[in-house]
Amino acid sequence: MRATKATFDENGYQEETNMTTLNTRPIALTEQPEVRPPQVRTGPSTLSVHGGRQPNPYHSISEPIVQAATYTFVDTEDLCYFKDQSLWGVVEDRYEYGRYGNPTIRSVEKRLACLEGAEAALLFSSGMAAITTTLLTLLPSGSHLVITDDAYRQTRQFCTHFLKRLGIACSVVPIGDYQALEASIRAETRLIFSETPTNPYLRVVDLERLADIAHRHRVTTVIDTTIASPLNLRPLEWGIDLVVHSATKYLAGHNDLLAGVVAGRAELIAPIHENLDMMGAIADPLNAAWLLRGLKTLGVRMERHNRNGQAIAEFLEQHPAVERVWYPGLASHPDHEIALRQMRGFGGMVSFTVKGDLDDTSRFVDALTIPQIATSFGGAESLVSQPAVMSYYELSSEERQELGIRDNLVRLALGIEDADDLIADLNQALSVLRHYQ
Ligand code: PLP
Repeated sequence: MRATKATFDENGYQEETNMTTLNTRPIALTEQPEVRPPQVRTGPSTLSVHGGRQPNPYHSISEPIVQAATYTFVDTEDLCYFKDQSLWGVVEDRYEYGRYGNPTIRSVEKRLACLEGAEAALLFSSGMAAITTTLLTLLPSGSHLVITDDAYRQTRQFCTHFLKRLGIACSVVPIGDYQALEASIRAETRLIFSETPTNPYLRVVDLERLADIAHRHRVTTVIDTTIASPLNLRPLEWGIDLVVHSATKYLAGHNDLLAGVVAGRAELIAPIHENLDMMGAIADPLNAAWLLRGLKTLGVRMERHNRNGQAIAEFLEQHPAVERVWYPGLASHPDHEIALRQMRGFGGMVSFTVKGDLDDTSRFVDALTIPQIATSFGGAESLVSQPAVMSYYELSSEERQELGIRDNLVRLALGIEDADDLIADLNQALSVLRHYQ
């Protein structure tokens, strides 16, 4: 029916109207034409573009951004129907309140689940929100967790300091020492947490071995593969229970938003979802839309990050001003064999020490003209950081040594620029260290 113009009385109230908009029931998305998933076997690049396509009432090629704090019900019957469906856990395409769910967020969660080969995924406001909400859900007071060293500093601090206040004990074991890992498991151990590859030394965990230890002791495994992205590594395929990411990095890919994700079996995700609803570290719908856009180019971006990582690691390894390079794609890396077996590519992060002290290293960093000094990684722009004066600035040199952070360590987070240009820039910057060559 065509809407006719509304008329208003002298008090501004709308009189008689046959505007259809006032009276229509919301279109249930289930009434929309079915979404046909691809009918052939799909690789990760196809999944990053099409995975988990959701019904879309507008048929727009890009997913609609539903920027809403709350959702309406036509009448009490409609509300009760929704409530009953929620109680039975069968609500797919209706929402009640922004903290409990959002269609744009749901779209990105479905896509991320597809990419990880998971039953379900949850989106958070940041990687740390994903990690902390997951660990707080899985660890009761009085329990114990094991984490591997060489981890993101905030994650390590959360595990060793924050969780301690809640009566949750934590053992930190050297990465790659599987005997120490197994020996640290106690009757109260509920969880093993590790990154792979790690930050900053890009150590790679043998996930099959870790999962085997965990299964024998009935312990849940959570792996942070932010540095790999699902294009390079899918931990669930190796028997891991849950995978987490800082989606801020490769998944989003443009250094312009923060988000986090956890993915795994639906029965493990459900209680985390309940706590997310309560604790509220939810993503923003607009960020979710930007993340969906970033994901569409994940495949091509990762190909370039992988190529740049390998080319620059090889260049640095033969340079006389460079002391040592850590990159899983190099035969000299301690975990090269595991990386070859487990990963499809080795990413854009390269760590190395230069010949020089803290100040020499800073002079080299300052001489770079393409990579910009910034923390983070995974975006189009190459970034460089000297961890001693970035993430570990307030610690003394001795305290940093204890954590394995050398004064002359450089972390290069390669973007998607041309490898030749990056190499030329590194070459000219390394010349400030020529007295060491
Ligand atoms: N995990 C890893 C490996 C990280 O490098 C980071 C941040 O740098 C995080 C988690 C935390 O992610 P976010 O900054 O999105 O909270």
